[in-house]
Amino acid sequence: MPMIQFDDVVKVYPGSAAPAVKNLTISIPEGETCAIIGPSGCGKTTAMKMVNRLIEPTTGAIFVGGKNILKQDTIELRRNIGYVIQQIGLFPHFTIRDNVALVPQMLGWTKARTYRRVDELLDIVGLDPAQFRDRYPRQLSGGQRQRVGVARALAADPPVMLMDEPFGAIDPITRDRLQNEFLRLQKQLKKTIMFVTHDIDEALKMGTLICILQVGGVLQQLDSPKNILSKPANEFVADFVGSDRGLKKLTLVRVGEVMQATPTLGAHDETGAELMNRMRRHEMESLFIVDDTQKLIGYVTIDDAQKNLGKPAHMIASQTVATIEEEATMRDAFSEMLSYGIRFLPVLDNQQRLVGMVSADDAQNLIKQRAPVAALAL
Ligand code: ADP
Ligand code: MG
Repeated sequence: MPMIQFDDVVKVYPGSAAPAVKNLTISIPEGETCAIIGPSGCGKTTAMKMVNRLIEPTTGAIFVGGKNILKQDTIELRRNIGYVIQQIGLFPHFTIRDNVALVPQMLGWTKARTYRRVDELLDIVGLDPAQFRDRYPRQLSGGQRQRVGVARALAADPPVMLMDEPFGAIDPITRDRLQNEFLRLQKQLKKTIMFVTHDIDEALKMGTLICILQVGGVLQQLDSPKNILSKPANEFVADFVGSDRGLKKLTLVRVGEVMQATPTLGAHDETGAELMNRMRRHEMESLFIVDDTQKLIGYVTIDDAQKNLGKPAHMIASQTVATIEEEATMRDAFSEMLSYGIRFLPVLDNQQRLVGMVSADDAQNLIKQRAPVAALAL
């Protein structure tokens, strides 16, 4: 049984001739993230808002967890559906804690239980509760506010999440980080998610299923990211996905899948001479340097090592200009390397520990492979 099911759903807004959503039939199995994508005005938001009955369908039926939502109490329905939107909708005069506590309070939880849950949620989304719970929304950055929005949607642990361009208004670097965090979170939470975006790269990164709509809310293709790229159903989908499909294939491969997990490294207390010897032995031109806890300190080139034979690595090391996370796509990694003109990227976990390394060659090899290969066969 699918977790979310649209059955021939039509929405015609009063006073408009053309439907905003037309005969939409889709099913989303439990635990999947369905990225809804299409041009502006194609009915993405309308489709999503019908799931929690912010908008009522004109005809057709929608089922959540097997139940017809039109026959369900709205409050009861919304309790099971977390909702995150681009404008976040935090209340400016409520503290972060009171904002996150809205749903538990509505459900009549005790104060103690509610506050415990708020702290737990702030932790989950990467905000230190002690530092953030008493602040007001305006005292947070855009990325931090968006995290609060996610925390609030997760408050009552709903099985279903609706996310309408949740990272749309955030700068690209923070957006990448929030996407990666959310992917990590989803690995544990396994929610069933409808994720609206207008960005095909975000859809391919976040979605385990992709639903492409044309203006008028007409379904063009509902398929895996891999099939959307390799077998577009029609010209509209092919155009929408774009001409750089080779490059887009990089979006389907995570850094963690192809990284070299045990790169040759240098230790912070080794001398330039020791580093130089190692680089010569392995025919390398530079080395990443880590401390005793595997935290990345920087890198040393063979020239720097040669000029500083007696000095310890931590004194020779230059700061790394770019790093990447395991959940990031190889497209993210490749674009970082291109923009900084570097051939290697250190892969860090969320404690800044080095867990691997990817190279521009890894990315180029993936682009060259025409037929689906192991790494692309999702
Ligand atoms: P998207 O989220 O894909 O950009 P929407 O679902 O917001 O698209 O809108 C789909 C279509 O329905 C658009 O043509 C839009 O103008 C129209 N529409 C959206 N909301 C309303 C409304 N409340 N009343 C009338 N028309 C609307
Ligand atoms: Mg919209």
